[in-house]
Amino acid sequence: MAATVVTRFAPSPTGQLHLGHAHSALLGWRLARETGGRFLLRIEDIDPVRCRAGFIGGIEEDLAWLGLDWDGPVRRQSSHLDEYRAVLDRLADAGLLYPCFCTRAEIAREIAAIGHAPHGPDGPLYPGTCRHLTPAARAGRLASGAPYALRLDMAAALRRLKGPLSFLECGEGRRRCDPARFGDVVLARKDIPASYHLCVTHDDALQGVSLVTRGEDLRPATDLHRLLQALLGWPAPRYRHHPLLLGADGRRLSKRDGAPTLTALRQAGHSPAEVRAMALAGQPQLRP
Ligand code: GLU
Repeated sequence: MAATVVTRFAPSPTGQLHLGHAHSALLGWRLARETGGRFLLRIEDIDPVRCRAGFIGGIEEDLAWLGLDWDGPVRRQSSHLDEYRAVLDRLADAGLLYPCFCTRAEIAREIAAIGHAPHGPDGPLYPGTCRHLTPAARAGRLASGAPYALRLDMAAALRRLKGPLSFLECGEGRRRCDPARFGDVVLARKDIPASYHLCVTHDDALQGVSLVTRGEDLRPATDLHRLLQALLGWPAPRYRHHPLLLGADGRRLSKRDGAPTLTALRQAGHSPAEVRAMALAGQPQLRP
């Protein structure tokens, strides 16, 4: 018998949910419910500047109004920073992390001096400045109390792999991964002792997520997530990256571009069934 599907919806509470979120949540929920699986709700709130605790209640209320239920308690990432620290310690003990003291401006200057920087999914690749610090220089900077991020030594990480990495994309088959295109990615920020990539990979493993349902925009991140899973000995879930919901103007729905929030649709008198249909149809047919 096939193992039970465990999937999840993992919003960041940076605002109210809009139709694009409803689309993603409904796909995951249906996949779980139609197969007798589990659907988890996880709040990805490690960034105290962008996230607001006040939005969390609204997210739960909107999902419940839409008719979605979830299994078990809601996991809030900000309550588990010690777990992410322990994962960082494992990677550091394996010699795969180094502290990076560079500011954004210093990185930009270094890239300008080199003349070019390859671009990865998260932006220009880090030129490796702090990877080349001597042990004495590094110890001196640490002792001075200078703030630092923790970066993955990508070349060292790739040397640990026993073979090529891939992931199973539902409906497409096996896709080859190229995590090197992230370069020496930040796994713990200067201001937050963790990062999206680290937390999401840890939590999916801890929560037994077997099917990651999320937007196509996060597909490139999967290459890096597979690398972390391999380094840490965690299982590889299956993935279902869904196309992003587009507005009538053909552009992806986003909060910044004024996508209709679920709260606004509810207040305008739409029923949950109507909003579910809009979210699954792909084109919002808004009541004038
Ligand atoms: N928290 C992420 C977001 O709101 C989603 C992460 C994921 O599904 O992997 O975009």
